[in-house]
Amino acid sequence: MTIYNLGSINIDHIYRLDHLPRAGETLASRNYGLGLGGKGANQSVAAARAGSRTVHLGAMSQGDDWVIERLRGAGVDTSGIARMAEVPTGHAIILVDEDGENSIILHGGANHAIERSQLDRTLSTITSDDILLMQNETALQYEAARRAHEAGAKVIYSAAPFSIEALEAVIAQVSIIALNTIEARDLFEKLGEDLPVEGLLITHGAEGAEYRDLRAGKTYRQSAFKVVAVDTTGAGDCFAGWFAAGLDRGEDYPTALRHAAAAAAVQVTRKGAGDAMPERGEVMAFLQAQS
Ligand code: ADP
Repeated sequence: MTIYNLGSINIDHIYRLDHLPRAGETLASRNYGLGLGGKGANQSVAAARAGSRTVHLGAMSQGDDWVIERLRGAGVDTSGIARMAEVPTGHAIILVDEDGENSIILHGGANHAIERSQLDRTLSTITSDDILLMQNETALQYEAARRAHEAGAKVIYSAAPFSIEALEAVIAQVSIIALNTIEARDLFEKLGEDLPVEGLLITHGAEGAEYRDLRAGKTYRQSAFKVVAVDTTGAGDCFAGWFAAGLDRGEDYPTALRHAAAAAAVQVTRKGAGDAMPERGEVMAFLQAQS
């Protein structure tokens, strides 16, 4: 069984500054970091490290080979990633001041240039045993969801960045909507809580997470594990990737939730997003140390 992921790939450029620049100001940065990010890449790395066969469907420039190498190193199948000659890899310029306050510029680049032929080719092998992950950071969300839904695959859609128009365009093909507390509040305000999907995966940061099985009318809750968090970037993606991998392995909801919460707890103790996703062995050792 395979997890396909129509997902964004972003390069994070992180600059640490004394203060955030004002209009017209030139500032020297104290420190520079380069990392792998994008909700899609994060979720692919999380699912692959959780042990699932994971095929990333995306696009990036012809340079930036280290990104492909890092995805492959995590065990992600990168054959569905198109390399574009004229379009830059999606990237984020992240400015962080001394108090941890940040300003971010996001350029979607190649994430918005994924082509239909590439999507058809990569998803030509999807079956009802498979899962499609998606987030709201790429082109062709409707086309991918429709293809996967027609094949009988489970479609897990991270409604982030939240857009009601983007969600409404795919909701009829979606099995599970994954969101955080704020996104869930936006969703419930617009569409109510009785939604035409199989389930809702809602994460509540350090408060934990819940899975609402809307067909059975049952809610499963999972507390967050107590850790000292140093960087929570990508925690939701870690959770979503591990939860998907749990369902892919045939785990029940409580087990999938527990493993995802443990993985996210380990992930927030490290700096970075995609690079901070834990291996399966680390997560199992963490769980063992809890009991
Ligand atoms: P997002 O990154 O999408 O905003 P959340 O902040 O809700 O997602 O975090 C996702 C999951 O990561 C949580 O449900 C929890 O399991 C874990 N997590 C996040 N912050 C912490 C924390 N401070 N301590 C332990 N676990 C955390």
